[in-house]
Amino acid sequence: MTKLATQLVQGTNGTEDDRSGSVVVPLNFSTAFRHPGLGESTGFDYSRMTTPTRLELEKQLAAIEHGTHAFATSSGMAAIDLVFSTLTATDDHFIASDDLYGGSFRYFDERQARYHVNYDKWNGRNVDDLLLLIRPTTKLIWLETPSNPTMKIIDIEAVARTVHATRPDILIAVDNTFLTPVYQNPLDDDADIVVHSATKYLGGHNDILAGAVIVKDDQLADKLSFQLTTTGQNLAPFDSWLLIRSLKTLHVRMKYHTENAQFLAAELPKVAGVDRVLYAGVGGMISFYLADDFSVDRFLRALRVCSFAESLGGTESLVTVPYVQTHHDMPVGDRLELGITPQLIRLSVGLEDKEDLLADLTQAIAAGAPTTTK
Ligand SMILES: *Cc1c(COP(=O)(O)O)cnc(C)c1O
Repeated sequence: MTKLATQLVQGTNGTEDDRSGSVVVPLNFSTAFRHPGLGESTGFDYSRMTTPTRLELEKQLAAIEHGTHAFATSSGMAAIDLVFSTLTATDDHFIASDDLYGGSFRYFDERQARYHVNYDKWNGRNVDDLLLLIRPTTKLIWLETPSNPTMKIIDIEAVARTVHATRPDILIAVDNTFLTPVYQNPLDDDADIVVHSATKYLGGHNDILAGAVIVKDDQLADKLSFQLTTTGQNLAPFDSWLLIRSLKTLHVRMKYHTENAQFLAAELPKVAGVDRVLYAGVGGMISFYLADDFSVDRFLRALRVCSFAESLGGTESLVTVPYVQTHHDMPVGDRLELGITPQLIRLSVGLEDKEDLLADLTQAIAAGAPTTTK
């Protein structure tokens, strides 16, 4: 098998229908495709079904996640919706790990309230506890690892092997947004479905909203394809092309994100006002707790290199306060139990110089220090 770096750089080049010899994949905007005759097709009919540029992207996404089929969607949430609207119906049940993207929980709660697609949360630690939650109606297990924002690690293979041993019909889906195929290939660990918010590391430049679903089973792919053709939540040609371009540097970016994050994870605990740093060891995501008497607001206002903005995975370093941003819709009790306190800061470490990042964070944290009162 082609190694990841070569696949990322070369995998989309030299398409069959390209006679110009262009080194990079051409961008095709056509929504309609001529038929040679009645009952005949070039393989392309109408762009909601499949379209050349998106198809190249999808082949690439499947290759880098070690799947057989991929679907490029208009956002990460559209990817999540594609999975759930394809695989669950009223009175079905699913299980989700308890610490994941806040928008996923908002979606799950809405599914439950409107369609009675019920779910339970699992703490991500003990697989025996997970087995106890399984019901006859369970269709899906949804995992995100490392968890968001508290960086807990779930052993995907242990979950998938254990669940499949007794219930091969239950599909294991993994949101692989944080680690990307550079560090984690869930399909190799016996998971059935990989989902990405490609808005994050796959896009990598804070300028594309996109999502992806990758699978390795033909029947499952057919069902997803039918659903996507029906609803049309797919990615437009230009965004598909931009994403193809972004993927060419994914491995380089991820390495540098990791290098910067490892440096900050080692240095931040030495900064006065930082209570505890959470880091999975690879990838660019770090969370840390500001000391209780430090002002989060003054810290955020003082940032000069990092931006106070909610997203992650891009070239620019972004700081998020999950308690009031990404996880705001989660009940307060649940947030606190997971460690999502008002003092928890999530940092998406970008590709700036690491010393500049540390200096910026250090001065901003100092600006949040308690003001002395007489
Ligand atoms: C952002 C994000 C999503 C949602 O993706 P969008 O592209 O914003 O729709 C899902 N999962 C994770 C882990 C995310 O970070």
